[in-house]
Formats: sequence, structure tokens, C-alpha cells
Amino acid sequence: METPWGYPDFDAHEALHFVDVPECGLRAIIAIHSTHLGPSGGGARFWYYEDPADALTDALRLSRGMSYKNAMAGLGLGGGKAVILAPPDRKKTPEMLAALGRAIDGLCGRYVTAEDVGMSVADMVEIRRQTRYVAGLPVEGASIGGDPGPHTSFGVFLGIKAAVRKALGKETVEGLHIALQGAGSVATGVAMHAFAEGAKLSIADVDTAKARELAGKVGGTVVGAEEVLFLEADVVSPCALGAILGEDSVPRLNTPIIAGGANNQLAAPEDGERLHQRGILYAPDYVINAGGIISVCTEYLRDGDASLVWQRIEGIPDRLEQIWSESESSGRDPAAVADLMAQKLIGRA
Ligand code: NAD
Repeated sequence: METPWGYPDFDAHEALHFVDVPECGLRAIIAIHSTHLGPSGGGARFWYYEDPADALTDALRLSRGMSYKNAMAGLGLGGGKAVILAPPDRKKTPEMLAALGRAIDGLCGRYVTAEDVGMSVADMVEIRRQTRYVAGLPVEGASIGGDPGPHTSFGVFLGIKAAVRKALGKETVEGLHIALQGAGSVATGVAMHAFAEGAKLSIADVDTAKARELAGKVGGTVVGAEEVLFLEADVVSPCALGAILGEDSVPRLNTPIIAGGANNQLAAPEDGERLHQRGILYAPDYVINAGGIISVCTEYLRDGDASLVWQRIEGIPDRLEQIWSESESSGRDPAAVADLMAQKLIGRA
């Protein structure tokens, strides 16, 4: 039997829960990486995996990423993630969501869920019928909560500005060329903020209709999904997929800055060093994209109001600057610096 102990991405995860409910077809993995700083928090992903082993890899990696992200954002949450293995018809039913809610409830608060790829605010409402260990619920009046996307986008935009200040010595993105990979929730918010400040945008999405729609809103240019990373640009902002910065892609980059919202942008840890060697300033993904979980955490723990959420998000540039300055003094690449900082915060270094 294959056990997770031999898995390359197993990192002393505290618990792995395999959920199998044949009556409704739910198959899911709930991975709890660390509860050192509080209940493990991280979104639920709904995705079709050809090979279920890839779902386990995702659950292991993403839950560790959440431990690092929550720790670096100064939140009272550990790291966890739920990965739902979508059936071949990709159909998500209320019964599946209810079964996931019951599984989460059975963990008695050790894992708190929210939206991730393939999951909506409406799905969180469905899960809430079964458990209170869920956030990202609809906003009522001026209270906090709801879709974490806009909070993520704002944090990413502030991170882009911090990188521009650091690498280009400019206070705004006015007149700068930003290449955006993706035209989804996070990319849309980033594009709107950047457009408002006068940036020129190139936008790519595999769904070209989405790219066209966003480009129309921000006076941007639609470019091919296969070329966007390699454009000559002041900033390349990956806001779609993970593992896009690797052995093959890093040498082809044509930008001084990589700063975007996608999770797990580095294909392997050594790709952080590859970027560093090329003199490209990298904003570690789980630091720059923490805006959404900051909103979710403040909603869940009820330890602040909307103004505290924005204040916490405004702390993202400071954390990035701290990482870059530590990188300069130690000679280590920013991704490695961030990992070590996060590991210390969760008691693992
Ligand atoms: P989304 O589903 O709204 O948008 C993703 C977009 O990427 C889609 O439009 C999709 O068509 C496009 N895409 C997929 N493959 C592509 C490719 N090869 N080239 C170009 N475009 C491609 O998702 P989102 O919420 O905007 O999240 C984007 C990324 O940010 C993901 O990696 C997600 O994990 C990460 N993230 C999101 C949040 C959040 O609050 N939504 C928070 C932290 C991190």
C-alpha cells in the first residue's frame, strides 16, 4: 500500500482525511498541515483530476501553502485545504456540498473552509447548512465577508506597487506595462486597480472571451495564453495557474518583476533561485495573495471589522519589503527567505 509518508509533498501534515460518500458521489481530501497558530484554515477546491494521486499532491501542497500564508499574514489560523475530486461530468450537487459540510463538521473546528477554485459564495452557504466551520459567506450590510477575490486583488495590486518601487524606483504604475496571465476573479480586480492608476495592460486567458471582456473594460490588449509570460513588460502578473515558473519558462522571461495572485507559481523550490540569478524580483505568492484569507479569517474569528481587514491587507507591501531586504542581506532568493520565515512562525524551523 502506498502511504503519504513517502510522498514528496508530505511535510509532517498533522492529519489527512479521505472522505468517500458513494450515495452522492463525493470524494474529497481534507488536509490539515498545521494547527500551531490556530484552527487550520484554507479554501475548498473543486477540480477534476485524471489521476487521484494529483488530488493528494494538491491537498498536501496547498495545505502547507496555507500554513505559510496565514502565518506570514499574522493571522490566528493554521493551514489546511479541502480538495474535492470532481466527477468526470464536473457536476457539483447540493448533496455533495452537504456531505462535505458534514465531514468538515466532524472535525470539530480543526479545519475551517472557504472558497477556492471551482467554489462559490453560494456553495459556502450550502456547506453552512451542515457546519459552522465555514467563512466567505455573503456580506450583509456593511459587515465583512463574502467573496475573497476582491480582497486578494487589492493585496496583489499593493504588492505589485511595492515591487515597482523596489525594482524600478517608481511610486505608481502609471505608464507601466503589466502582463496579466488570467482574466478571472483575481486578475480582474488587479486590472481594474492598475487601469485606474494608468497602467497599460496585456491580458491572456485560455477562455479568450473572458480576456476580451476584461481588456474591453481596461483598454487592454488581448494576447495569447502561450506568450503572455514572455512579453517584454515591466511586470508579469501570473493570476491563473500554479507551476508556471520552471526550468523552461524562467530563462524566457522578459520582465524585471514577477508579482501575481496565483498559488504555487514556482514549479519547484529551486525556481526561486533561478529567478534570483536572473535578477528578476519575485513577490512570493502566498505573501502577495493573502488578501482573501485575511478577509475570510477576520470574518471567521470575528476579531475585527472591515477597516481592520483593509488595514491588514495594507500590511502586505511591508512584509514583501522585509523579505526582499532579508534576501539582499543574506543572498538567498525571496521565496526561500519567505519559506524560512513562515517555518519559524509555525514552529518548524
Ligand atoms: P478564476 O477561476 O476566477 O480565474 C482563473 C482564470 O485563469 C480563468 O479565467 C481561467 O480560464 C484562466 N486560465 C486557466 N488556465 C490558463 C492559462 N493556461 N493561461 C491563461 N489563463 C488561464 O480564479 P481566481 O479566483 O481568479 O484565482 C486565480 C489564481 O489565484 C488561482 O491560482 C487561485 O488559487 C489564486 N488565488 C485566488 C484567491 C481568491 O481570493 N480568489 C486567493 C488566493 C489565491
